[in-house]
Order: sequence, then C-alpha cells, then structure tokens
Amino acid sequence: MKRKTILVTGGAGYIGSHTCLELLEAGYDVVVIDNLSNSKLEALTRVQHITQKTLVFHQGDIRDKHFLFEVFSRHKIDAVIHFAGLKAVGESCEKPLAYYHNNIYGTLVLTETMAEYAIKTLVFSSSATVYGDPESVPITENFPLSATNPYGRTKLFIEEILRDLAQADQNNPVSSPWKISILRYFNPIGAHESGLIGEDPNGIPNNLMPYIAQVAVGKLPQLSIFGNDYPTSDGTGVRDYIHVVDLAKGHLQALLALFAKQPEQGGCQAYNLGTGSGISVLAMVQAFEQATGQKIAYQFAPRRAGDIAACYADPSLAAQELNWRSEKNLDAMMLDTWRWQSGNPEGYR
Ligand code: NAD
Ligand code: UDP
Repeated sequence: MKRKTILVTGGAGYIGSHTCLELLEAGYDVVVIDNLSNSKLEALTRVQHITQKTLVFHQGDIRDKHFLFEVFSRHKIDAVIHFAGLKAVGESCEKPLAYYHNNIYGTLVLTETMAEYAIKTLVFSSSATVYGDPESVPITENFPLSATNPYGRTKLFIEEILRDLAQADQNNPVSSPWKISILRYFNPIGAHESGLIGEDPNGIPNNLMPYIAQVAVGKLPQLSIFGNDYPTSDGTGVRDYIHVVDLAKGHLQALLALFAKQPEQGGCQAYNLGTGSGISVLAMVQAFEQATGQKIAYQFAPRRAGDIAACYADPSLAAQELNWRSEKNLDAMMLDTWRWQSGNPEGYR
C-alpha cells in the first residue's frame, strides 16, 4: 500500500517537531509548512538526524494562498495536522488582531485550500483553555466552552468553524465529508528522550516547565510561583502536565481513527489529551528537584491575571475512541526536560 503523506503546518515548532518525528518513525511521508516565526529549522534537521529519515520542508505562511496552492499541487496529501498558530496568552491581549489574523484567517485559508484539493481529513490543535474557568474537575469534552483571552477565543472560534464545516456537508451526496479531530491539549512539557529536540521559547518563558528548566541551568535566578492561596491542596495552581511525546502519539492515533472511517462517515469530534492527574506548582518544583538533583530557588508572588485554580482532564474519550493513553510519568517528563535544557542551554541557537 502506498505510504500516506501528512502535511504538518507549524511542524518546526515544539509539538509539531515531536509529532513529525513520530510520523516518520511510523512510516508516514511528512511535508512541513512553517514560516519559522516561532521556531528554528534546526529542529527539523535534528528530527531527520534522530529518525535517519527525510521530510520535505516548505518555508511559508498558511495565510498565503498562492504558497499553499503550490504545496498542495506538488504533493499528494492524505491528511493535514494543523499546529501553525500564535500561542502566547499575554501577547494576544496586547495584539488581538495579530492573533485573530494569524490563527483564524490562517485556518480559513488552509481549510479553503484543503476543500479545493478535496483533502478533508484534519487534526487540529486546540487547548484546554476552551473550557475557560471550569466549574469542576476533571473536565470532560461536553463541559461548557468559553474563553478568557484573545488566544483562547481564537481556539474557540476555530473549533466552531470546524464544527460548521463538518456539519455543512454531512448530507452532501456529491462530495466526501470532512473528517475532523479537535485535540484539546492540557499542559505539554518534556522533550524527546534523545535530548536533541525540545521546547525553545523566545525570551523569558511564560510557561512553568521551561521557566523551571532555565532556573536550573542558571539562566534565570529564581521561579516566581504565581499565587499560594488557591483552593488547592497546597494553595498553588493545579494543572495536567502531559509528556510531549505522548501528546505527539495522540495525533497519530487521531489520524488512524480518521483513516479507519468509512468514506461517507464525516464529522468533527473533540478529544481531551491529558493524563487525568492534576499536579500543583509546588509539587512540580519538588518533582524536578527529585528527578534531577537540581535545586530550584523560588518565591511566592501574586496570582497571575487570568489564571485558574485547577484544570485537569478526563481523558477517557480518547482512550475509548482513539485507543490513546498517556504513558510517560512525571519523572520521565522532568528527566527529559533536563536532558534537553542542560544539553542545549541556548536552545537551538
Ligand atoms: P510553537 O510556537 O512551538 O509552534 C507553532 C509553529 O507554527 C511555529 O513553528 C511557528 O513558526 C509556526 N507558525 C505560526 N504561525 C504560522 C503561520 N501563519 N504560517 C506558518 N507557520 C506558522 O507552538 P507549540 O507549543 O508547538 O503549539 C502548537 C499548537 O498547539 C499551537 O496551535 C498552539 O496554540 C497549540 N497548543 C499549544 C500548547 C502548549 O502549551 N504548547 C497548549 C495547547 C495548545
Ligand atoms: N506558573 C508559575 N510561575 C511561572 C509560570 C507559571 O507559578 O513562572 C504557574 C501558573 O500560575 C499555573 C501553572 O504554573 O498555575 C502552569 O502555568 P503555565 O503558564 O505553564 O500553563 P497554563 O497557565 O497555560 O496552564
């Protein structure tokens, strides 16, 4: 059987590069589109080095229709995994239009092009942020959706657009329907076990794990823990941290499930990708120290605007329908983060 070709938008980024690696290992042909606005080509060079396989890279923007046509004309694409997007919550509050343009308009141009080439199998990167401030935990996919910032709103709007799209040609007798999986990630952390690829944020990290790693490597003096008066076990915020390699594998399982559908069986389904366990910021610091032997200096600071107390997944729908479960434990997340950070203190630079 001919190998399937997967187009990966944003494939040079943190989650995209780990997913490209898993796709290559699983025997897919991989075509990447990335404008390198938040990533380095070096990540994909290393993916090819680790796998000893090659992928095709096209540098360009998903909002550029001519560019997309060129890529879709050159390759016979079977499905698209769509990671490309801007993701910094704080920046999205300062520059909402840049976020709406990049994320929403970008997705419109991408899906229009897919429709024109009759490629209607799509896996989309959403986020647990679409649950806003959930009334309870764990969170199931049918919880009410809302957003607390422009970044979250782009994810929410794109989800709605994709649901409309799948609905529109559900009963269309002439064309095959859209088959869409929306993956709502909880908190991806860690790195490939080789220590050669990992998360490489620009400037001072916003997220907890890269911040801890940069304190450990001596690039930052100490961690500020945002809030110690939340209604949680130790007062610090609770999240569902998931190893990025487990997350990457979730995309392969989502693709398999879409490919297994009958041709006339369309639809759009959202899945939580998390471990199902909530861990506090203090417990994360302790787990990092224990796994790596590195001491993390920290101080308590006021709550960060927009943060919620606790957020963790009920991942059982992904287990049932995608045959996917997270496998790597917190120790592996910490050790793999440290191997990447200590081996690459300046990231890919
Ligand atoms: P990332 O910034 O490392 O990767 C995104 C990639 O998309 C980058 O390589 C960037 O250069 C590229 N890109 C951005 N806009 C583009 C455009 N218009 N055209 C072409 N390329 C473009 O981010 P990531 O952490 O790998 O996240 C991937 C996806 O997952 C994003 O959509 C993000 O919103 C979503 N997500 C991430 C997290 C997280 O914590 N990392 C959590 C939930 C959801
Ligand atoms: N956090 C923190 N200090 C930091 C960064 C994050 O205390 O420098 C906390 C944050 O308040 C939250 C948790 O760590 O409780 C995870 O934050 P992150 O930004 O990584 O993810 P998100 O807020 O998107 O869940």
